[in-house]
Amino acid sequence: MHVIHPPKLSDAAADDDDSPEVLRTYQAWKGSNKFFLGGRFIFGPDVGSVFLSICLIVAPVAVFCAFVARKLIDDFSHHLGVLILVVVIAFTFYVIILLLMTSGRDPGIIPRNAHPPQPETMDLGMEVGPGQTPQLRLPRVKEVIVNGMTVKVKYCDTCMLYRPPRCSHCSICDNCVERFDHHCPWVGQCIGRRNYRFFFMFVSSATLLCVYVLSFCWVYVIRIMHSENTSVWGALIKTPASIVLIIYTFLSVWFVGGLTVFHLYLISTNQSTYENFRYRYDRSENPYNRGIFGNFKEVFWTSIPPSKNNFRAMVQREPKPPTRVSGGSFINSNNEKIPIEPVEIDGVKPQWKNEATAGGGKRRSSLGRSGSWDLESEAASVTGIGYSDRMSRGGSSGSLGGSLEVPVK
Ligand SMILES: [Zn+2]
Ligand SMILES: [Zn+2]
Repeated sequence: MHVIHPPKLSDAAADDDDSPEVLRTYQAWKGSNKFFLGGRFIFGPDVGSVFLSICLIVAPVAVFCAFVARKLIDDFSHHLGVLILVVVIAFTFYVIILLLMTSGRDPGIIPRNAHPPQPETMDLGMEVGPGQTPQLRLPRVKEVIVNGMTVKVKYCDTCMLYRPPRCSHCSICDNCVERFDHHCPWVGQCIGRRNYRFFFMFVSSATLLCVYVLSFCWVYVIRIMHSENTSVWGALIKTPASIVLIIYTFLSVWFVGGLTVFHLYLISTNQSTYENFRYRYDRSENPYNRGIFGNFKEVFWTSIPPSKNNFRAMVQREPKPPTRVSGGSFINSNNEKIPIEPVEIDGVKPQWKNEATAGGGKRRSSLGRSGSWDLESEAASVTGIGYSDRMSRGGSSGSLGGSLEVPVK
């Protein structure tokens, strides 16, 4: 939907902008992602949580190396003790690399359109009075056939595109992501088509790392029991680091292990987390199900498609938003004139509100906000309640208060 902003008081002020005309895609990025190394790495806005996650992995491993593995070196012969230390360090690096491969890459973002697509059919659903322009709008939902089954795809107001099947708009990153699974706060990134494999490998490897540390802590405790001929409690008291690690890894293994098992179930039935919470497919209804082997093959043995975004490509700075006034009309980006007719209510003419307060949140619809598990609003938007309600309110608020919200042409 186009939002036509109210006329600015002074256009000269806007022309003072001396920033360069050509910039890189990541510099002009409209999503809320954070980029590193000149757009070579893309993270979600909550990238800080990646460092927290790394600390939660490295800190217990460091304690394990210093207080448990180092002691076990002396206990085992034939370099076996050294191997315990080498394996845990190498495995930790592997887990962290998987974490960064999950969070630092494009999860499958579909580039936004600069303009809404042309409607194939005109929807003249709204009443058109004499002298008014007929209001054309894009159908909110389209139906496509996937493997012989009808799947509904929705229009994204923010990205101005029809989302392909399994695509959803992440409310945190503000992008449409292919095969959207969920936005993971621990890796600070969306999990989608291009990083799901690494996400699963990260979670399952982290589970194995927990089991490894937990196991060797018990090995150490048992060796103390045998060497000092004491009870479990007697041995545990002698190694407080092991007590902390045993509790920490025991709790963690429920979390990452549970997640691993849940995703094994999702992979085997070819569902995303989002679809599982949203649709709860029966096995027969899921159009993506290819059988258990086909589903595992799809996740682990198919090539990952290249990114649809070149974050380092040079792009022209977008032209300024259409704000000029010509003969009592706005001219929007399609060079269409929209007459301005302020409505008088009780003899008082309305004032244009500030863009930030009036137009700021206008285009955000619950339709396009699916990453936040806002299932209620999603359900409402599917049935069209949310949209039609918003459409009618949008029409009146456009002339009374803030930005003119004109249905898409
Ligand atoms: Zn979108
Ligand atoms: Zn996200």
